[in-house]
Amino acid sequence: MNIPKHLEYAYSRIVDVADFPKPGILFKDITPVLEDEKAFAAVVDDLASHLNGANKVAGIESRGFIFAAAIAAKHNLGLVLLRKPGKLPRETHVIQYQLEYGFDSLEMHVDSLNQKDSVILIDDVLATGGTLLAGSELIAKSGARLTNSAVFIEISALKSRTRLSSIPVHSSIIV
Ligand code: AMP
Repeated sequence: MNIPKHLEYAYSRIVDVADFPKPGILFKDITPVLEDEKAFAAVVDDLASHLNGANKVAGIESRGFIFAAAIAAKHNLGLVLLRKPGKLPRETHVIQYQLEYGFDSLEMHVDSLNQKDSVILIDDVLATGGTLLAGSELIAKSGARLTNSAVFIEISALKSRTRLSSIPVHSSIIV
């Protein structure tokens, strides 16, 4: 467990919900964090302090969008959306990745990024790491450079770090 002092209040706003969306999952509900201006701002500031020179912020659907958009607007950076299949209307890069049961995929418009871009990848929760890894692979497909990836909450029991050893990852809090 690692909860930095400046995020203790934001941490106190997270609500753990047992057996959602299915039995056995302890869901980290961040909606009370978003509803509290002090908590939300503290998380956005923490994530944004790890841009490492990025000129674009890529957010993962859907809760990653919220933090990514706030960081992008605050720091005058472009926002790139990594979306679930079938949502983006034009040509996309696609990465399929494994879930506990079955597969999912993420898509990004092919013209969202190019090799001149430096990108930070944002999501809310890091669980097994499959989603963040797929996001980093989408960015790699575009030729852009991943400066960092950053999540609000890392669930350390799921040991995503081994899987993510090839990419930089900042977690605001580790539970
Ligand atoms: P994973 O690919 O296993 O790291 O899962 C990360 C994605 O699933 C993120 O986009 C999260 O929003 C969501 N997620 C996974 N586990 C949880 C959880 N326990 N609580 C909230 N969101 C979760």
